[in-house]
Amino acid sequence: MTVRTSRRILTTTAAALLAAAGLTACADDSGDVSQPGEVGVVAAFYPLQFLAERIGGDAVTVSNLTKPGAEPHDLELNPRQVGEVVDADLVVYLSGFQPAVDEAVEQNGGDHAFDVAGVTPLRDAAAGDHDHDHEGEGEDEHAEDEHAEDEHAEEGGGKDPHVWLDPTRLATIGDKLAERLGKADPDHAADYTARAGALRTELTKLDTEYADGLRTCQRREIVTSHAAFGYLTDRYKLEQIGISGLTPEAEPSPQRLAEVAEEAREHQAGTIFFETLVSPKVAETIAREVGAKTAVLDPLEGPPADGDYLSAMRTNLQTLRTALGCS
Ligand SMILES: [Zn+2]
Repeated sequence: MTVRTSRRILTTTAAALLAAAGLTACADDSGDVSQPGEVGVVAAFYPLQFLAERIGGDAVTVSNLTKPGAEPHDLELNPRQVGEVVDADLVVYLSGFQPAVDEAVEQNGGDHAFDVAGVTPLRDAAAGDHDHDHEGEGEDEHAEDEHAEDEHAEEGGGKDPHVWLDPTRLATIGDKLAERLGKADPDHAADYTARAGALRTELTKLDTEYADGLRTCQRREIVTSHAAFGYLTDRYKLEQIGISGLTPEAEPSPQRLAEVAEEAREHQAGTIFFETLVSPKVAETIAREVGAKTAVLDPLEGPPADGDYLSAMRTNLQTLRTALGCS
């Protein structure tokens, strides 16, 4: 709340300055990535790029601040990228996830930014995951989620940022993004709305495939390298056992490794998941210790090597079905 208020003040100040200087906010072409007549959108990381491209279509030019192969959590911006954010017609980002982007957005002024974190309530980092000391028990509305995790909840004021891994929430974010783009570019507002609707249809289909595909499984616990899948496990009634916390670079303690190995054994986890952008070493260590296999479960923090969000999510679903013995 405090942050929002101060941003609004900043925005007002920036607008006043621009007005005083006789400038319109979008007239600056020094770092503008858009072509003439197109809305220049800067997306903070891959799933937001995917949304902006699908909904914006040929009316927008989208650039991504997180380059392929980079981990978005520890993203740093070079001065050129800060300029890109400052000059963007619209920045699509998730506050609390990438502090460097939050800072650059403050320079941009809130009226050129679309904060995904403000669209759908984010889950508490402490709610719903698997843990051992039962902290936060009873805080979660899902009675099945009797355990709580995560002590590494330093990001986003204790909020779990990985909201894009629930397709229904991504659809909601898409609808709001279409509205926002329509305000920035009223001539194409109907197109944005229509594309968001089409994407919602696809995401709803994906959601149904997940619900059906994960309904009847021999196991429901997934051991993942970092705790990125809380929205997905909440939605499809799985349980996440994150080896490290919400951020991939949080090094798990030997004690945590032992706990995870113990849980993996207890739940007869045949597969330990690792991800594309993070070293598989820790997952491999645990897998070796408990005699499990490893497999890639992509948290979509970067663009998939092939295809897009939808195809990578379908690959994830197949991987989960195999690992959990779903019929
Ligand atoms: Zn993450």
